[in-house]
Amino acid sequence: MFRFALFILLCIPCVAETRQPNVVVIFCDDLGYGDLGCFGHPTIATPNLDRMAAEGQKWTEFYVAACVCTPSRAALQTGRYPIRNGMCSSKRRVLFPDSKGGLPASEVTIGRMLKQHGYTTHAIGKWHLGHLPQYLPTSHGYDSYFGIPYSNDMDAAKTAPKGRTRFNDPKTEYFNVPLMRGVDIVERPANQHTITKRFTEEAVKLIKDQKDSPFFIFLAHNLPHVPLFVSKEFTDVSRRGLYGDVIEEIDWSVGQVLKTLRDEGLEKDTLVVFTSDNGPWKSFQQQGGSAGLLRDGKGSTWEGGMREPTIFWWPGKVAPGVVMQPGSTLDLLPTIAAISGATKPADRVLDGFDLSPVLFEQADSPRTDMFYYHGEECYAVRSGMYKAHFKTKTSYTGQKEAVTHDPPLLFHLGHDPSEEYDIAKQHPDVIAAIRKRKSEHEASIEPVENELTR
Ligand code: MG
Repeated sequence: MFRFALFILLCIPCVAETRQPNVVVIFCDDLGYGDLGCFGHPTIATPNLDRMAAEGQKWTEFYVAACVCTPSRAALQTGRYPIRNGMCSSKRRVLFPDSKGGLPASEVTIGRMLKQHGYTTHAIGKWHLGHLPQYLPTSHGYDSYFGIPYSNDMDAAKTAPKGRTRFNDPKTEYFNVPLMRGVDIVERPANQHTITKRFTEEAVKLIKDQKDSPFFIFLAHNLPHVPLFVSKEFTDVSRRGLYGDVIEEIDWSVGQVLKTLRDEGLEKDTLVVFTSDNGPWKSFQQQGGSAGLLRDGKGSTWEGGMREPTIFWWPGKVAPGVVMQPGSTLDLLPTIAAISGATKPADRVLDGFDLSPVLFEQADSPRTDMFYYHGEECYAVRSGMYKAHFKTKTSYTGQKEAVTHDPPLLFHLGHDPSEEYDIAKQHPDVIAAIRKRKSEHEASIEPVENELTR
């Protein structure tokens, strides 16, 4: 009996120390690199994100793997460039309400990986990896789903004003988007004034309900993608106008999530990541965000289209500081596998790296390369501090055809983060090395059925 009691006593600390961490990924839609106070915005107040950045790690060179919604989300969920799973196309760049395709069942999402490891898994908000039942989060390893399955500007109502005028003074009834719980539509059109608030309430409730076992929450806000909507409480609060109001409500939402983790005593057991799917939709002018000092925005492979304001937070574990090295949403699946002990898929090419040594030990980032895709085509490559553009196309601003560059344009992202000064002529050796790297990467791609054009 004594021996048994001793065994139990000795094991209690082991159990406490080996609790698998909870993970919360907060993912915005079309948020620009320069839209947060802690990333330099002068008139948008984000005190909760600023505090999160001060307590955690602020990453200044964190990338998504595509410059538009659907392929970017496929990359985050699978740790693979979307060219590997059929989730990118130059003809149809994202999924639409009439699309028949979605993320193939053979792909392993972060949700599926963690569910197989004993986590409860929850997706909230925008999914955009297929809205038919077989593609929704509940078919991809998530126990629950509550959200709008694609972009909040889709399903324009016949009675809505034509073209972009419907975005100027947007009304809920102009956008007949569904709000879903599981595979059922529970509201249509979704009242978008309250979606940020309701997605937040869902996350808070899940944290409270699931606190006794490890959980994963993917909280993907539909905003600040246009049309812009805010709740009554956040109307006219920002010096940046309606766009700023939307960001300040998202900041409030982040504060609610972190406060709940603290109140429930989970802050030392939970990794929280904040980032976004692509850069600001600049052609919407003041309704779109800002990429700060980065060039261009959503839809382009310039830095403004694919570099996102990113924060990692886990008090007592993540070493506070600023990381000025590359990371990517591609790295989230391997990083989460490493910290949870889950098994990442071994039967396919993964493009992500485990960032946990950077998070916990301030080691150098294992990521040195980034491939910038526009549809199925790799337009640019970052290798170390150099970035070569083989093709460029500005974002949604009327440029019909991409421009090919031979030799490619070359920029040093340390000296010239705004990509203003082409230094290709001075560095033929760098260009040769990047060409080789690009060829090696492209040789690793196997053809798959395109899911966006089905
Ligand atoms: Mg987006």
